[in-house]
Amino acid sequence: MTTHLMNTYNRQPVTFVKGEGVWLWDDKGEKYLDALAGVAVNGLGHGHPSLVKAISDQAARLIHVSNYYHIAEQEALADKLCEVSGMDKVFFCNSGCEANEASIKLARLYGHNKGIEIPQIIVMEQSFHGRTLATLSATGNSKVQIGFEPLVTGFIRVPYDDIAAVRAVANSNPNVVAILVEPVQGEGGINIPKDSSAYLETLRGICDDHDWLLMVDEVQTGIGRTGTWFAFQHTAIQPDVMSLAKGLASGVPIGACVAQGKAASVFTYGKHGSTFGGNPLACAAGLATLNAIESDGLRENAEKIGNLIRDGFISEFNGIGAVVQVRNAGLMIGIELDRPCADLVQLALEAKLLINVTAERVVRLLPPLVMNEAEAHELVQRLSALIKVFLSSN
Ligand SMILES: *Cc1c(COP(=O)(O)O)cnc(C)c1O
Repeated sequence: MTTHLMNTYNRQPVTFVKGEGVWLWDDKGEKYLDALAGVAVNGLGHGHPSLVKAISDQAARLIHVSNYYHIAEQEALADKLCEVSGMDKVFFCNSGCEANEASIKLARLYGHNKGIEIPQIIVMEQSFHGRTLATLSATGNSKVQIGFEPLVTGFIRVPYDDIAAVRAVANSNPNVVAILVEPVQGEGGINIPKDSSAYLETLRGICDDHDWLLMVDEVQTGIGRTGTWFAFQHTAIQPDVMSLAKGLASGVPIGACVAQGKAASVFTYGKHGSTFGGNPLACAAGLATLNAIESDGLRENAEKIGNLIRDGFISEFNGIGAVVQVRNAGLMIGIELDRPCADLVQLALEAKLLINVTAERVVRLLPPLVMNEAEAHELVQRLSALIKVFLSSN
């Protein structure tokens, strides 16, 4: 079937042809419950009317012009992003890894401007920042790196949720310029710091003490997923830099590096660029996405439905020792098992349910933010039954 596609994905044997809300249909007319949302991309679900209209209208009017010119849709999306994030400036690109590339370049330039010739960025174990050379080097997973050495240097790795390790680096390395951290680790297994607001707030304090930039990778946690616009908004802090992508334009490729304060003026003319970045079509989709999240109350819904799903699984798995933990931050939900469970993805597909398994033992659910209570109930019933069967036979 895929003779002319490079073999970079182990694809499930299904082809989807249409979607509506949290539902997808394949080319045989079978209907599936989507609890993955294109990996946290389709926050509005499939076929959201105001998104479809915004994209169609924009496509008819103007799809692309160069960043050599002013782009009204890009300025409007930057305004809206800054309004909801409290940040100052935005650079648009086309994906999460590109957003992180921009953050990494920004941090290095910030260091060079201070006279630090070999700037270092603190990154975390089990992190995921993308597949480009710099971002795979920043990623805390050797599977992503093997075969692509030599890695990009300039990263210092410490355990996640370990303040003492960051302090130790601060005391021994004068070349650090920034910390890059996910508020909740997505690919790493829905890892939530024990006291997540204290973790970010303490990192903020360390950055202030040493004049480092605090850079949050909100590519997966951002755009309403955890119940606030951005996960850092569950805390009292403001980051210097934030990377966004996945949910930002509901599937039209986009990424953004968002900065405030001293970080907002680091990039000057000629220091970075992108041909497609922030084009009218992507930005119209981004604006429609943010407006729909606001008008449809989807942040509130993400928190409510996420907690409902978590509580549903906790009660279903009560007394089952093989389920190590059910945890969530809004609609980022992880079910950690005591054994590898990658096979669950195909079993779920056969049961017409789209899920993901990450970090080998963690069932990861990233449902559309539009999921309602009845759909959440159905997800819990169908998936918990499947997991119980899996556990009894594996
Ligand atoms: C998905 C993801 C990325 C990479 O995004 P791409 O668009 O695939 O390049 C980076 N960081 C985090 C936290 C992600 O979840």
